[in-house]
Amino acid sequence: MPHTSAINPDTGRSGEPVIAIVVPCYNETQALPISVPELLARIDEMASLGIADSGSFLLLVDDGSTDGTWDMIKSMSAADPRVRGLALAHNRGHQYALLAGLMEARTMCDAAVSIDADLQDDPAAIVTMVQLFRSGKEIVYGVRSSRASDTAFKRNSAHAFYSFQKAMGLETVYDHADYRLMSARALDLLAEYGESNIFLRGIVPQIGLETAVVEYARNPRVAGISKYPLRKMLALSVDGITSFSAAPMRWIFYLGLAIFLLTFLVGIYVLVSHFFGHHTMPGWASLMISVWVLGSLILMSIGMVGEYVGKIFREVKHRPRYAVRERTWQ
Ligand code: UDP
Ligand code: MG
Repeated sequence: MPHTSAINPDTGRSGEPVIAIVVPCYNETQALPISVPELLARIDEMASLGIADSGSFLLLVDDGSTDGTWDMIKSMSAADPRVRGLALAHNRGHQYALLAGLMEARTMCDAAVSIDADLQDDPAAIVTMVQLFRSGKEIVYGVRSSRASDTAFKRNSAHAFYSFQKAMGLETVYDHADYRLMSARALDLLAEYGESNIFLRGIVPQIGLETAVVEYARNPRVAGISKYPLRKMLALSVDGITSFSAAPMRWIFYLGLAIFLLTFLVGIYVLVSHFFGHHTMPGWASLMISVWVLGSLILMSIGMVGEYVGKIFREVKHRPRYAVRERTWQ
């Protein structure tokens, strides 16, 4: 599909696609002075290659930072019109900050690329993504070819995360985080997904349209520390699975079925013992084991059901997914 730009030639624009680079930022005062010039250089590069309009821009989303990130974004925006800032009312988490940025960008661009502020995802891949977009791809996933720079713990826990999700019936693109290009059309379709619990990596593959993959090497953070501790990674994993799959509930059902079948054998054993008088001391050990095993299974099941009930609770309220406090543009 040849790309048709939304830009009016009367405005003096090149007619090349306008690309928005959306960056969620949470306490990133250390990383932004390095990453913003780097990303702006990519826009210059694409404009000089003639593959993107020079009106392409950065959209920095401040996710309720507490360290002066917003002031920094505002002064960067004042210094360069290609830097736009969006402040959320409070810290909502990476996924929501990203969603807010993409939804704001979608009416202003032909395609949006989402990337983290720490430039762990090689920004050079943006150029390849845009080239694939120009050749008709609507969604381009950035996929890590190497994680050598991540700690072994981060690497292994991330791989466990993907495998676990897959086992639980959630389809995601392997080793793809949230570094991707989406066309304005794909973003419009994304906007139709009204769920409150959002896990973009699970939703985007469901949109359909033509996709492509770009490989890149994962680098260390340019500055600052990770805002994604294990606690948040686990929460994201549980959210991802329970938002997309009912497999855990089915597993509990099969487990219950297996135990139910075992109960027949246990029943026969008990009856035989009773009628043929093999009386042992009152079975403290077996009783304790049963209580613990059944007790834990029941608790697990309740917890699992509770997870879904909680989801329903949050969905039916239809609360806004994010609240915008301020924009640097009109
Ligand atoms: N982030 C955010 N809100 C949060 C946590 C993180 O917007 O509550 C942003 C953060 O500024 C960064 C991106 O999400 O741009 C990814 O976070 P980070 O690099 O800390 O995660 P990691 O790469 O360590 O998984
Ligand atoms: Mg990072």
